[in-house]
Amino acid sequence: TILVLGSFMMDHVVTTKRAPKNGETIVGKQFEIFPGGKGANQAVAASRLGLNVIMAGKVGSDYYGDVFINLLEKEGIDVRHIVKDKDKSTGVGFVTVEENGDNRIIVVLGANLSYDSQDLSELVVDIAPVTLAMFQLEMDFDLTEEAINVFYQKQIPVLLNPAPARTLSNDLLSKVTYLTPNESELELLTGYQLKNMQDVIEAAKSLLDKGTENVIVTLGDKGALIVNKELVELVDGYTVEAVDTVAAGDAFNGAFAYAISSGYEIIQAVKFANAVGALTITKKGAIPSIPTYEEVQSFIDQ
Ligand code: ADP
Repeated sequence: TILVLGSFMMDHVVTTKRAPKNGETIVGKQFEIFPGGKGANQAVAASRLGLNVIMAGKVGSDYYGDVFINLLEKEGIDVRHIVKDKDKSTGVGFVTVEENGDNRIIVVLGANLSYDSQDLSELVVDIAPVTLAMFQLEMDFDLTEEAINVFYQKQIPVLLNPAPARTLSNDLLSKVTYLTPNESELELLTGYQLKNMQDVIEAAKSLLDKGTENVIVTLGDKGALIVNKELVELVDGYTVEAVDTVAAGDAFNGAFAYAISSGYEIIQAVKFANAVGALTITKKGAIPSIPTYEEVQSFIDQ
């Protein structure tokens, strides 16, 4: 069983020829609603592959809060630790996509930000079966730090996907078992300018020096790089036709958690996660595009 402590975001996407000017009303082309949020995406990815997943986090006492809880429950995820905030709305995103591909985005993190120490202490008494705890950076940062500390003290391995990008203290980095930045997150974390693979390796090594056990840098179509004390290994990605790259990183993280928890060696786990990341970009949307274990197996076998 793994725990994902993370975010819920309901994205509202309008496609339009052009964005309206101030005070103007225009007629758009299409409207769609996509459930997502890095936490929810990663929980669904791990669960679809067959892992037992407990998802913890906060939604509003509103329509979308119920939508998320029902959706995750249907995926077979343990939702007993998703709490509802009385005052704040469920996290939402509003996205305008123009014909030329330009986009404008407003996100309201809402209830995601009000998950607090009290919620955490209620969660912690009920985590006996958890063998890996996963985090991202879409909740209150102090709370996330506090949570990582708690799991570190309990000697439960911590996977931190440091997204959206920000810097982290050396103390926090030293408590992370698996850190999974993409290239731009790695740049921000380390202050390195990444011009080639050697730079990526050096930057990742600088995080090992701060005490992180394993750094796994996701590299888009190039796959992912593993750096730890024994290993510097570039694990090639799969070649697919990209339809929508949304949630590739989340699917990668959920799949990596699945594979490591199932006893894969780290190289094999990253190879598997590369397959899941690649498959996810062949379909539109976040949660709808995340594959099942059977789909991944037949993709790998072909
Ligand atoms: P993020 O989406 O967080 O920016 P990446 O772009 O590095 O992260 O993608 C995460 C993982 O998804 C990659 O490590 C890789 O396994 C897979 N992936 C992403 N883009 C592609 C692609 N164009 N072709 C094949 N695999 C991809």
